Amino acid sequence: MANFQVGDFVWAKMTGYPYWPGKVAEPDKDVKKPSKKVEMFFIRFYGTGDYAWTKADLVHDYAEQKQKYAIGKAKGFLEAVRQIDHAVERRAKGLPDTSDEESEEESEGSDDQPLAKKAKHEKSSSATASGTPPKKRRKSAKKSLPTREEVHVSSVDNLNLTEPCVSPDTTADADSTTSIVAKDVIPTDKKIGFLGLGIMGIPMAMNLIKSGHDVTVWNRNQNKCKQLLSAGAKEGTSPADVVQQCDITFSCVSDSTAVRDLVIGNSGVLQGITSGKGYVEMSTVDNDTIKEISEAISMRGGRFLEAPVSGSKKAAETGQLVILAAGDRSLYMDGYSCFEAMGKKTFFLGELGCGANTKLIVNMLTGTFMASLAEGLSLAEKAGLDQYTLLDVLNLSAISCPLVQTKGSAILEGHFPANFPLKHQQKDLRLALQMGEVLEQPLHVAGAANELYKRTKAIGFGDRDMSCVYRAVNA
Ligand code: NAP
Repeated sequence: MANFQVGDFVWAKMTGYPYWPGKVAEPDKDVKKPSKKVEMFFIRFYGTGDYAWTKADLVHDYAEQKQKYAIGKAKGFLEAVRQIDHAVERRAKGLPDTSDEESEEESEGSDDQPLAKKAKHEKSSSATASGTPPKKRRKSAKKSLPTREEVHVSSVDNLNLTEPCVSPDTTADADSTTSIVAKDVIPTDKKIGFLGLGIMGIPMAMNLIKSGHDVTVWNRNQNKCKQLLSAGAKEGTSPADVVQQCDITFSCVSDSTAVRDLVIGNSGVLQGITSGKGYVEMSTVDNDTIKEISEAISMRGGRFLEAPVSGSKKAAETGQLVILAAGDRSLYMDGYSCFEAMGKKTFFLGELGCGANTKLIVNMLTGTFMASLAEGLSLAEKAGLDQYTLLDVLNLSAISCPLVQTKGSAILEGHFPANFPLKHQQKDLRLALQMGEVLEQPLHVAGAANELYKRTKAIGFGDRDMSCVYRAVNA
């Protein structure tokens, strides 16, 4: 084990968080050393100005391990690397290290820092009500930072501080769908409606607009319509209003309750349906819900298609979703240019219910695999293995896939932007288990994974990305 001296540049790691650039430092007088009988170093972290006692086996020489650990892409991480590199360069030139002041000033607003910094935000957040400016609060709170042991009292608290919840309206990027232009879609001249502008709905509707469709949108929270209106959409006053104005209306909302509210609720879809109107349900829901709303729409002379999607936020933005359509074939044909705009491949699966069932099986596998990946990475940490090396191995193995690459990196970087909210993943597992129940298919693995997601939701991570399941596993 390396024997570091005060002033050495290092990578240091807190449990459940990525390696972060830091410097071995003299401990502040008022920061008590943990009573553990293992060797520990007091580390000051770059980019945050924070500090923590860290076990010696989680501290490594900066230069020696740079290639291995400097792989984070998050803004705060890159800034920390820039600062330590600057300090290393100054030392090489015999100049004094100014990084302490620099990190104090430049860490504002960064959301992907190591644990100790987040603890500082928590301390300072208690002062928010007093209206104290954040920077001032943070500096004054520094002396009362908890030690490493204190900040590990509750993993939930730590996490609330570490991964800000990325709400759908702040993550969508109006310009991120430009790739659709290259698809050369010939838009239908039918008027298109879109209901439900969440993480998926915004980019999906945006791709319809960018490919030249005439689009009218509605969302329960009207604010989310803004960027689509700026891009050329019209706004409906209610689901019924959108359906009345349009020939084909698409919907992409959270779950079965939302789907029913939208269709049979006040000023809902049903009230706008007349003979020949088309309604396409793209939300992930169960077969029964699909059949129920299909019947209600058909009874009014409307046409119905289910078309849940596989692929997350990025695929929605780049028009690369896989669309699983089933139901009314004439509606599928009429809306085909819309599917081309939103997806890279659309399957027509035949009878109603085949889309929902296929989608639930896809997501059951995604959810169980994600939970397994989280367990593997956590087990590696407990075994004293290097998680980055494990991820490299996985990425070169037979199970290498985008999920391992993106979610694995998200876990190691401790950065969980909400692409697929964990609550939706748990909902899909629950629905898949219900499907198994009806069809008398045992689903042992999915059942165990579902319990893990339920637990993660219960401890407050429902709105975070599904990869946050690691937090329950690694608690
Ligand atoms: P989201 O970001 O949570 O957005 C949910 C949307 O549903 C919002 O527009 C919300 O309106 C609306 N909504 C919820 N309850 C409602 C109600 N009672 N009445 C009317 N509107 C309601 O979800 P998302 O990630 O876009 O996912 C949407 C659907 O696609 C889900 O079924 C999900 O399982 C599926 N899906 C998601 C992904 C993914 O990676 N995110 C991938 C494939 C499939 P407000 O804005 O007013 O709350």
